[in-house]
Amino acid sequence: MAETISATRLHEALTRLCDTIEREKNYLSELDGAIGDGDHGVNMAKCFRGVKAKLAATPAVDVGAVLNAVGFEVMNSVGGAMGALYGTLFIRLAMASVGKSEVNLAELTAMFESALEGVVGIGQAKPGDKTLLDTLKPAVDALNEARRNGKTLSEALASLENAARAGMESTKDMVAKMGRASRLGERTRGHQDAGATSCFLVLQAFTQAV
Ligand code: ADP
Ligand code: MG
Repeated sequence: MAETISATRLHEALTRLCDTIEREKNYLSELDGAIGDGDHGVNMAKCFRGVKAKLAATPAVDVGAVLNAVGFEVMNSVGGAMGALYGTLFIRLAMASVGKSEVNLAELTAMFESALEGVVGIGQAKPGDKTLLDTLKPAVDALNEARRNGKTLSEALASLENAARAGMESTKDMVAKMGRASRLGERTRGHQDAGATSCFLVLQAFTQAV
């Protein structure tokens, strides 16, 4: 199995992510509807429809250029917090990979470290606040640990996906401390967070790029 993610494979995986978001639109909105305003799936689908068109017009030669195209489209097309959060995620991933036709595990880890830092800087959420950070942070930590332990890229991405899934599911037992859902306090317990769920789908696109 490839020990790098090429611009071509990433471009394909991100294009598939756009279809996945479209397919999961109602599910994401239902999750948001239980404790928020029910628009998360609609927001994400609208945004990723734009991303799909943008990707179609972006050559798959430079990892950073592909991620940058996604990042700027997300930043511009989704209103509110989600656009800034996911826009920052992709733009940070791009900054650390510009000019590379492929990235290895060490490079991918540095990209995600920077992306995590950017998302925390923008959102100011902490682990346990019941946000997309509860998916992103454990996933990036798992990637880092796998790299330190000398795992292959595919093994590291499998760890990332498992940690992301567990993180997403862990939001069910949390009380929302951030965003719209925080107003409902204890009533948010028992519901999986919508952003944590879409973040799992976004991260899964990277595991599918090897
Ligand atoms: P809105 O809250 O404006 O309706 P969405 O429904 O699209 O936006 O997104 C809601 C999701 O945003 C939540 O499920 C949560 O995961 C995420 N979120 C909200 N605030 C923050 C924050 N400060 N940091 C990280 N994620 C956040
Ligand atoms: Mg919402």
